Amino acid sequence: MVPRILVSACLLGRPVRYNGSAKTVAHALIAQWQREERLVPVCPEVAGGFGVPRPPAEIAHAASGAAVLAGAARVIDARGEDVTAPFVRGAQLALELALAHDCRFALLVDGSPSCGSRAIYDGSFTGHKHAGAGVTAALLRQHGIEVFAETEIDALHARLVQTAA
Ligand code: SF4
Repeated sequence: MVPRILVSACLLGRPVRYNGSAKTVAHALIAQWQREERLVPVCPEVAGGFGVPRPPAEIAHAASGAAVLAGAARVIDARGEDVTAPFVRGAQLALELALAHDCRFALLVDGSPSCGSRAIYDGSFTGHKHAGAGVTAALLRQHGIEVFAETEIDALHARLVQTAA
């Protein structure tokens, strides 16, 4: 069976981001993986119960998604509301979907407090990022799913080839 890939829905053109936009990535490999029916789209924030549009949110105090999952950090939106619970719920639903479809890999949009895998915003709402992962990316990694950012499509392809050999 070809390995399936959990993928951020906004990366495939679905307008589910906080501001109602998509983050479409046009890449020949994505088109190929779609044809091969490898891609399992999810928006963890919509799955967690958020609407579109919604206030932007960041993990507070430059903490990480793993700290949120451990109960040691919170996700706060731009109005100052604690939105940790729906972020964690969305991550759990994304994990369930990945496991149900036997996804060993995920391709997620970087920078997001859910999907970020390399860098996330620091909670100051000033545009500053720091190295770290969002809540969903962290939970997927905790369950052995390899997470790649949209800038790492070629690296993901290399892993697919490697695991198929
Ligand atoms: Fe895209 Fe992930 Fe943000 Fe949803 S949570 S809009 S899939 S980056």
